[in-house]
Amino acid sequence: MNTNCVTKCAALLLLLLHVEAWADAPEPQRPPNFVVIFCDDLGYGDLGSFGSKTIRTPHLDRMAQQGQRWSQFYVGASVCTPSRAALMTGRLPIRSGMCSSRRRVLFPNSKGGLPQAEVTIAEALKQKNYVTACVGKWHLGHLPEYLPIAHGFDSYYGIPYSNDMGLTPQPKGKKRLAYYAANRAVDLDYWGRVPLMEGARIIERPVDQTSLTRRYTERAVQFIQDNRQRPFFLYLAHNMPHVPLFRSEKFRNVSAGGVYGGVIQEIDWSVGQLLDTIRTAGLEKNTVVVFTSDNGPWLWFRDHGGSSGPLRGGKGGTFEGGMREPTVIWGPGIVQPGEVAGLGATMDLLPTFCALAGVDLPAGRVLDGYDLSHVLKGKGNSPRQTVFYYLGTEVWAVRHGNYKMHLKTVEPAYGEGKTVTAHDPPLLFDLAADLGERNNVAAAHAEVLEQLAALVMQHRASIKSVPSQLEIR
Ligand code: MG
Repeated sequence: MNTNCVTKCAALLLLLLHVEAWADAPEPQRPPNFVVIFCDDLGYGDLGSFGSKTIRTPHLDRMAQQGQRWSQFYVGASVCTPSRAALMTGRLPIRSGMCSSRRRVLFPNSKGGLPQAEVTIAEALKQKNYVTACVGKWHLGHLPEYLPIAHGFDSYYGIPYSNDMGLTPQPKGKKRLAYYAANRAVDLDYWGRVPLMEGARIIERPVDQTSLTRRYTERAVQFIQDNRQRPFFLYLAHNMPHVPLFRSEKFRNVSAGGVYGGVIQEIDWSVGQLLDTIRTAGLEKNTVVVFTSDNGPWLWFRDHGGSSGPLRGGKGGTFEGGMREPTVIWGPGIVQPGEVAGLGATMDLLPTFCALAGVDLPAGRVLDGYDLSHVLKGKGNSPRQTVFYYLGTEVWAVRHGNYKMHLKTVEPAYGEGKTVTAHDPPLLFDLAADLGERNNVAAAHAEVLEQLAALVMQHRASIKSVPSQLEIR
C-alpha cells in the first residue's frame, strides 16, 4: 500500500467515524408536546381512579398510575364558557369579560366571544412555532373573529358550542327538563341541528352526534401522527358527557353506569387511542397529556348527569362538586408519577406550558395561573394556595389552604327549588376534615374568616371592569 492510499484510507475512516458520531449526536433539545383532553360536565366521581364503582375507565386509571393524580384541581367557573376562557388564557374570566351574571354562557345568538387582546395557550406556544389544533367544543365565540383559527390554532374541527344548542329557542325550566326526559338522546334530527365546523366553515348539519367522540378521536390521532416531527399542542375538547348523551354503537349497553357510563367509557377508549398513538410515534418521553373537565356534573339530569362522588353540589354552583375536577397529568419523560397533595387549576396550564416550552408569559396583563412545572417534575410543592370561586361576575367563595369560606351558595344549582342564599356571617368549612362541606366551623375560627375576607377584598381591588362578552347579542 503506497502512502497516497494510506492517506486516502485514513481520511475515509475519519469521515466514517465523523458520520457515525454525527448520527449518534442527540437531537437539539426540542420543546415538549402538549395535549389537553377536556371533557364537558364530567363529575369528580366518574372515573375508576376517582372512586366510580359503576363506570370502567381502565385507560384513564393506567394513565393515573403512570402519571400524576390531582385530587384538588379546579376550574375557573362552574359552567362552560367562562371555564374555557380561564383554561385558554390563564386568567379569571372576569378579566376578559367572558362571564356574566345574566347570561352565564354564550348562545347561538350571541355576538361576543374571546377578545383578540387575550393571549391563548396556542398563541403563547407559537413563539416556538408549535403546530396547534383544536378538536371539539370551543364555546368561546362562534363568529369568525372568535373561532380557534382566530386565536392561535392552525386548525379547528368541532361543534363551536354546546351539543344541546341546536334548539332555537331553547325550552326553559320544567319544559326543558320534560323535553330532555322525553327525548333521551334518541331524536337525532332534533339534537343534530348544531353545526359541525372545519376551520370557519360548517361542514355538517344536522350532525350525527353518535359518532362525535369517535370522529374527534380520529382527528386527534391523525394530528399527532402528521406532526410527530414538530412540537405540537393539541386541545381535544369532547362535547360529551354534556346532555344530550350520545355514544357509538360499540358503547351501548356496556356499563353498569347506564347511558352515561357508556359515554364515559367511550371517552376512556379515546384516551387509550391517544396514548397509544403517542407511544407508537416514539413521543412518550417528550409529551405531557392533561385530562380534566370544564365543570362538575349536571345533576339536574339525574342518571344522565354524572356524580360528584364525595363532593357536595355540581355544575352551576360553587360547592366543590361544581368546580373540582378529576385530573390526571401524564408524561413518562417529564412528569414524576404519584398523588399530588397540593392545589392546581386549569388556569395554571398556560404558565406551566410556557415554562416547560421555554417561552415568555403573555405580557402586560394580570395572570391568575401559577407555574406548576416543578410539581410535574416532582421537584417541589404546588405554589397555589388560593382558589376564588366565581358565579357569574361575583366571588361567591374562596379557599385558602384547607379553609373555604362561602359568601353565597345556590342549591340546587338548576331547576325547581333553586335557592340562592347569602351568608352573613359567611360559612366556613375545613376541607381537610370535611370534604363534603357539611360542618360550618365559622363560629370557632373568627380569625380565619377575617383572613379570607381580606383575601377577597384584595382580589376584588385587582379587577378592572371590562364589558361582558356574554351579554352582546
Ligand atoms: Mg360544561
